[in-house]
Amino acid sequence: MDKHFETEAIRTQIERSQFLEHSSPLYLTSSYVFEDAEDMRASFAEEKERNIYSRYSNPNTSEFIDKICKMEGAEDGFAFATGMSAVFSTFAALLNAGDHIVSSRSVFGTTHGLFTKFLPKWNISTSYFDINNLDAIEDLIQPSTKILYAESPTNPAVDILDLERLGNLAKKHNILLVIDNCFATPYLQNPIKFGADLVIHSATKLIDGQGRVLGGVTVGSKDLIKEIYLFSRNTGPALSPFNAWVLSKSLETLAVRVDRHCENALQVASFLESHPKVNLVKYPFLKSHPQYEIAKKQMKKGGNIVAFEVEGGIENGRSFLNKIKMASLSANLGDTKTIVTHPASTTHSKLTEVDRLEVGITDGLVRVSVGLENVEDIINDLKQALD
Ligand SMILES: *Cc1c(COP(=O)(O)O)cnc(C)c1O
Repeated sequence: MDKHFETEAIRTQIERSQFLEHSSPLYLTSSYVFEDAEDMRASFAEEKERNIYSRYSNPNTSEFIDKICKMEGAEDGFAFATGMSAVFSTFAALLNAGDHIVSSRSVFGTTHGLFTKFLPKWNISTSYFDINNLDAIEDLIQPSTKILYAESPTNPAVDILDLERLGNLAKKHNILLVIDNCFATPYLQNPIKFGADLVIHSATKLIDGQGRVLGGVTVGSKDLIKEIYLFSRNTGPALSPFNAWVLSKSLETLAVRVDRHCENALQVASFLESHPKVNLVKYPFLKSHPQYEIAKKQMKKGGNIVAFEVEGGIENGRSFLNKIKMASLSANLGDTKTIVTHPASTTHSKLTEVDRLEVGITDGLVRVSVGLENVEDIINDLKQALD
C-alpha cells in the first residue's frame, strides 16, 4: 500500500474516461470489443491484460478487487457474487478428490454445511479442531491435508484464534492457511501479515455495511489467485458489475463506519457487563475476554459483534428478543441497523445441544450486531428488554 488505508480506499479507481467523471462510472456491459483479428487472438491467448467478457473481469469488479488487495496487502484477487461462492470456489479451485481440510469447528454455519454435506461428494474430507485447543491441530494434519481453515473472530461466540500461531503451523506443515476475515474486515485485521495464504470476505456484511447487496472476494498470492480465477472463469460465480460498483463505493467509508461500529459495540459490551441479568459478555476488546491479549495483538479494534448470555436459558433468550423494540430481528450482520439474534433457537437450532456447546453457543446466548444508530438508543433498547 503506497498511501494510508483511508486514502487508498478513496483514491483507487478506474482510469477516467473521456467524460472526466469524478466518481467511477458503472460499466454495465457483458462483453468488450476488439480492434481487429490480431487483437482478438492476442487477448484470448492472454498475451495482454484486458477485459474480454464480464464473467472473467469487468472494470468495476477490478476496481473493487484492487482496493481489497491494497487493504489486505495481497497481490491479487477475484470477486464473487456472494461470500459463499468465494468460500466454495476457493476450495473447489485448489483441492482435488482425496484432499483433506483441517478447520476450526467454529465456522459460519453454511461453510460447515459445505464441509459436511457437499465437499464429501468429491471425496474431500474435513477434520475439526476446538478453538481452545490449537495444540490438537498437528495431530489432525495428514499427508493429504492441503488447507488449514479458520475464522476470527468467530460467529456467533466471538472467540479469537491466534492467527500467527496458525500461520506458523501451516508453514511448518507446508499447507495453505485460508482465513475468512469477514467479522474483522480488512480495516481491523490483515491475516496475510500473520502468515495466511488466502483471505476471504463476505462483502455482504460490513464491507457493504448498509444491508443492500451480496458479494464475496478472495485475495492472496498471484499463483493461487490464478488457479481460483481459472476455476471461476469457467464456472461463473463472478460478482455483478453493479454490486461491485456499490461495494467499491462502500469501501470509501469503511474506516469511518467501522470505527463508529467499534466505538458503539465497546459501549454496548460495557453496559451489558454491568447488567445483573447478563451472565457473560464476549467482546474481543473487553479485558474479560479470554483471548483479549491475542485480540489486541492482531486486531486494530474489537469489531461490531457482541455476544452475551441472558440469565435463564433458552426461554429467556427468546423472550428477550420478543421485548426488543428498535433493533431488528434479522439474519444479516454488519449493517447500519443494529440486529439481534438468538442462535440456539434459529441459525444453530439444527445442532444438538452438545454440538452447540462445543462451539460456545449456550441456550441463552444472544448475538448483537451493533449498528450505527446513536449508542444511547441502542443501549436503551437492550436495557428495557433486559429489565
Ligand atoms: C455471511 C458470511 C459468509 C457467507 O457470505 P454470503 O455473502 O452470505 O454468502 C461467510 N462467512 C462468514 C463469516 C459470514 O458471516
